[in-house]
This record gives sequence, C-alpha cells and structure tokens, in this order.
Amino acid sequence: MTNSQHLLLVGLPGAGKSTVAQLLGEALGMPVIDTDQVVEQIAGRSIAEVFSDSGEASFREFETQALRQSLAGTPAVISLGGGVLTQQINREILLGNRVVYLQVTPENAARRLGISHGRPLLQGSRDMVTKLQELHNQRHADYETAACLRVFTDGATAVEVTQDILDQLQARRNLVQVRAERVYSVIVGSGLEEVIAHRVNQLGKDVLVVHPPILRPRAQELATRISERSSGSVNLWEHADAESGKTVASAEAGWNRLGELNYGRDSVIVAFGGGATTDLAGFLAATWLRGVPVVMCPSTLLGMVDAAVGGKTGLNTPAGKNLVGSFYSPAAVFCDLRQLVTLAPEQIAAGMAEVLKCGYIRDGRILEKLDSLALENVGSILGQAGKESRAELALRELVTRAITVKAEVVGADFRESGLREILNFGHTFAHAIEKLEDYKWQHGFAVAVGMVYAMELACTLGQVERDVVSQLRLRLKALGLPTSYQGTWPDLYEAMLHDKKVRGGVLRFVMPAKEGAIHTHSVTDLAALKQAAVQVGVKLA
Ligand code: NAD
Repeated sequence: MTNSQHLLLVGLPGAGKSTVAQLLGEALGMPVIDTDQVVEQIAGRSIAEVFSDSGEASFREFETQALRQSLAGTPAVISLGGGVLTQQINREILLGNRVVYLQVTPENAARRLGISHGRPLLQGSRDMVTKLQELHNQRHADYETAACLRVFTDGATAVEVTQDILDQLQARRNLVQVRAERVYSVIVGSGLEEVIAHRVNQLGKDVLVVHPPILRPRAQELATRISERSSGSVNLWEHADAESGKTVASAEAGWNRLGELNYGRDSVIVAFGGGATTDLAGFLAATWLRGVPVVMCPSTLLGMVDAAVGGKTGLNTPAGKNLVGSFYSPAAVFCDLRQLVTLAPEQIAAGMAEVLKCGYIRDGRILEKLDSLALENVGSILGQAGKESRAELALRELVTRAITVKAEVVGADFRESGLREILNFGHTFAHAIEKLEDYKWQHGFAVAVGMVYAMELACTLGQVERDVVSQLRLRLKALGLPTSYQGTWPDLYEAMLHDKKVRGGVLRFVMPAKEGAIHTHSVTDLAALKQAAVQVGVKLA
C-alpha cells in the first residue's frame, strides 16, 4: 500500500469519521482534513451561519469547493461531511479515489452524537434516531456506490475500526492506543521512517534525535527524513551506550546539547534506540523546560514491548538502577520491526521473555502463537523481519499483543498503585539475580528464571499443577531462555528482601492463584520459598 493517494471517509454523522481520520493519519503518516472545517475557512463563517445567511444550496457550493481544494493538496486522510455525496458533481469528483464507508446504525450514531455533543439526554432520543434513519435511507446507496471499502462501526472502538481499515488496505501496520495521563498511539510496522517524520513535524519545530553509537547511520537517515519535512533544525545527539548512558552526567550532557542548540518549547525529542535510550531521552524530554514532547522509536524488542510503552523514564545512580526518573507519557511510539534484524540473538530472547510474560499475565493467545512459532524457530522469523511474509505478520501480532497487554495495565494504573504490579511477574526473583550478578545478566534472562521461580512457588503452595510449571520451562527453552540459576539461597533471600514489593518484611510475588488469574500474593512460608528455589537450581547454603 502506498500513501500516494488520498483516503476519504464517508458515512452518517456519528459514524466516527473525525476520530478514525485522526488515527489513520497517525498510522499512515498523512495529514488529516475535515471538509466541514475547510468550508468554514473558505466561507469565513461557521457552517450554521452559512446555512442561516444563504441557505443549503450555498453551503453545498462551498462544500464542492472544499472538496476540490482538499483533493488538489498533498495526499491526506479526508473526512467528508455526511451530505457530500448527495450532490452529483461531488460523486463525479470522487470517482477513482479511495473512499471508505463507515457504516453505523442510526441508533448508535444518535448515541454517539449525544455523547460527543455533551448532551447525554439526547442519547437514543426518538427525534434524533428518526432523523438519522431518514438520512441513512437517503444516503446509504450513494455511500455504498462511492466506497471501495466498507467498515461496520457498531460495537467497535475507533481503534478497532481504524485497524480494520488498515488491514483491508493491507497497510501491514498495527495500532494500539494507550490511555494513561495522556492518550497516545503506538504504531507497529516495518519501514516507518516517513510516518515518524510526519508525526515529529506535527509536534514541533526543532528536533533532537537521541541515539546510541551503534545506530548512528540509521539515526542520520531518520534525521534526514525528518528534516526534509521540517522548517526548523534537526540535530543528532549520541549518548554513551546502554547503562553507561543512563547516568546523571549523561543527562547533563543532553541538557547542555539542548541549551547550545537553543531549543525552546517548540522542540521535540526523538528517542531512537533500546530501553536505555528511551529511558534517558524520555527523562531529558520530561525535564527540558519542564517538559517537551518525546517520540519513542524503540529499536530493540525489549524497548518495543516494555521500556518505550509505559511512560516511565529512568536514570541509574551509584545507589542502584532506575532510582531517578519520572512518569512521563510519550506523544507517540513507533515500533519499526525492521530495526530488529541487527539485534543479537540473546537480545531477541530477552525481549521474548517479556512477550511470554504478557501471555501469562493476560493474553493466552500469545502463548498459543508462541507455541506454534517455536516449531518454526523464532530466531529465523526475526531474521526475516521487514520482508512481507507470514513470519513478519506473526511477529507484528506478537509485538502488538504484548504492547496491548502493557497498554491495558498501564491505562488502568498509570502510577503503579495496584494492577500494574502484575507486570512484575517473575521480577522479585529476577531483581535478586540481577543484583547478585552485578547487572551483567540480561534483564529478560533474569525474568525468565524469575517466572519459573514464581510458578514453582505457586506449585509448592498448591496453586497450580506441576504440568503448568513444566510447560513454562519448555516455552522458555524454545525461546533460548534460561530456566535455572546457580546461586545460593541466603544471598537470594537477602536480595529479595530489598524488593520494592516487600511489605513489613514479608515477600510478595506475582503468581497464579488457584483459579488461574495472576495477582500479587504475600508469602510467609519459608519452607515453600526454599523448596521453589531448589527447583530452579539454587543451593540452600
Ligand atoms: P539497551 O538500550 O542498552 O540496548 C541493548 C544494546 O543493543 C545496546 O548496546 C544498544 O546500543 C544496542 N542496540 C539497540 N538497538 C539495536 C539494534 N537495532 N541493533 C543492534 N543493536 C542495537 O537495552 P534494552 O535491552 O533495549 O533495554 C534495557 C533498558 O531498558 C534497561 O536500562 C532497563 O532499565 C530499561 N527498561 C525500562 C523500562 C521502563 O518502563 N522505562 C522497562 C523495561 C526496561
């Protein structure tokens, strides 16, 4: 699919055209036009004034003018006024264009209009439903004739409708929306540079692309794409790699760079790299002039499914990892699967541990998908990322599903007061391993063993059957992840007592309950804690 054509949305008032047009614009990197707004610009008056001053015929003339003007511009997603197609001239103008019909029942359209106009009392009002039914009878055939695609919007969210259109257009792109302190979209696809460039330029004038050394050539390419569309300045800033970049000194160097460039409130930070980059660049954005927009472009699997999505930023201090940071939502997140091709196999495996975790805590379909992929070898699938293949589709689905799990949890509990704890499945034991190994272990590897430990504990406490633990081990092995740790119990226990979930000296673990749902449990049974440790290879003394 190319963006060299306009995409036009038709349908009754209340079909969701404006919202879906915005989301399509974000996903496809296209400007969004609403012909009603163009009419008001041309007429220099509101639509209500055009109607009252000069009547419907005059409004329809302005509308035709607005349509011609919109079609003469750069390719855009164009949301059309509900009555555009009642005019023969407009139907002719639209011939050969990509028109999508958003079909809605009059009852649902009335309900949405009632809500969107802040008049809930009008919801389901007989008058409005009758009026919309009449409009439907008059216009439905024209909508159907003009459209090359039809999407039913009843009972679907705007994101679902948008995804349906993207799928039908074979755009090979997925959309997830995160509803945290700010609502933002996550786009998952391959080859997203143009879309990123479009969004970044919508957000501000001057741009700083923050990246690690290894991505310098790609960051330069991205900066070039952004500057082709920009009237401001686009600069790169390279930080020290990985954890050495997540320091206060590094943040200071970033602030200095922004200061030298004289970047003001209309600047945008683009975080292009792994989780370390998104943590550092997110922190810079949160603190520069008390907050400028950040666009996350994660380039590792872990960055995509975890670090870039939750709206948390972080720096390390000598006292520990991620002790300084802020909750700060990005303006948008773009996960370009093509970036993953150069990742080392262990980095892919580490990211997959988080994907698997999402399968266990919320979305069983991830587990089914991974089970079928394991037979085909996940490594080779990632090697093909970027090509149009079944494998890429599967990868896109897995990444999207994992992001959706995180988005749902973060949306329900942005500031980590409760539900968000389930994202820490496997993390109590994992943090202890990381600490004892002086953070030389990949986080995902530690989480893999931590999940086995939590599951063994649940099994020891009679909450899950042994075969559930065995299945988890098999899945981890298939992904190239470890399932045991050769540590000693006193060290691990001591390290776990410093976990942030500990309350009053009692360890708490995210693990399945008898009914299968995963949540946080306090565990005081020391014998069970030790037995589970032995099961993952730990020595008792
Ligand atoms: P990372 O950013 O250090 O990346 C790992 C290595 O891969 C680095 O050397 C990096 O330069 C390199 N790299 C990045 N993209 C590459 C590519 N496409 N091809 C080849 N090499 C590439 O680490 P990570 O594993 O992505 O993320 C771990 C970090 O994320 C940790 O600092 C962790 O604390 C943080 N994190 C944050 C959150 C959060 O909610 N904020 C969540 C999870 C993890």
